[in-house]
Amino acid sequence: MAQLLDIISNTGKTAKEILNEFTQSQIQDWPLAAANFKGLEKVQEKTYPYDGFVIRTQFNSERMRSSVAEVDKKTIAARQCFLCNENRPKEQDAIEFGDDFLILVNPFPIFKNHFTISCNRHIDQRFIGNAQTLLELAAAMEGFTVFYNGPECGASAPDHLHFQAGESSFMPVTIDFDRLKHRERLLFSGKNTQVWAFDNYLRKMISVETSSMDEGLEIIGMYYQHFQAMQPEKVEPMMNALCSWNDGKWKIHLFPRKAHRPSHFYRKGENQILISPGSVDFGGVFILPRREDFDKITSENIVDILQQVCLNQDTFQELAGQLQNDLTKFV
Ligand SMILES: [Zn+2]
Repeated sequence: MAQLLDIISNTGKTAKEILNEFTQSQIQDWPLAAANFKGLEKVQEKTYPYDGFVIRTQFNSERMRSSVAEVDKKTIAARQCFLCNENRPKEQDAIEFGDDFLILVNPFPIFKNHFTISCNRHIDQRFIGNAQTLLELAAAMEGFTVFYNGPECGASAPDHLHFQAGESSFMPVTIDFDRLKHRERLLFSGKNTQVWAFDNYLRKMISVETSSMDEGLEIIGMYYQHFQAMQPEKVEPMMNALCSWNDGKWKIHLFPRKAHRPSHFYRKGENQILISPGSVDFGGVFILPRREDFDKITSENIVDILQQVCLNQDTFQELAGQLQNDLTKFV
């Protein structure tokens, strides 16, 4: 096994080229990956316009397992962890990232290149001690957005630390951010770093754009600390995070949440919509594993679902206000 950064420096290829070749080689050697990446060519998508941006929906039946995954302690304890090295399929190859992480092709893809970046050790899914890895991965994987789903926010292995990554160009948030940040609330502007609160984006989002890893991590720490105080009963405050890197800057999007799944998930019969929102949904692509849901979901349903799982405006305002207050002392 080789290190991603060594392959980049030894071959002179970009991360995008290397990772694309990696996906292709897994498609060659691994029938499950071959079938599901082929299936991805046929997935259907629809676009729903809102005020200055869109949400897309994707019908993707292979994601059923992930969407309905039971993530309670008892179920998790009773199953074999699919991210532990001894349980992974023998065809699944890996590229190393640092001492602790392996980049793996996700055999149930949403993206044309979809990776799971799994820790070598079976340790709990937690954000704060691993945010630096998120930023390091993003910087190494230019062209990809690396994302984190919290243990109650879309991670189907809440007991095994992992990130995922897919092409940045796939998720609407990538272009929305640059286009819409001017109309949203600027919380802080410094030499290396700017921070915004997005109030009018259907989902509540704190965005950090920075050329400094230290500053980025410090701001993530401030956000986390305040949010943790608001949800003291949780193992960690409920959140998703997306991070990408280009032009010498990180763009970090933090989505604070209040619920794991919307009421639609638990309804019966035709009122049910099976959706379990995670980072990709917050990035602007709703993943729907059932055709009937893809066919019937309305623009209003999308607004309602996001409202149910995101912080409400008052709580978000409070969180953003606390962060802004910290940032006044930030130099
Ligand atoms: Zn494990």
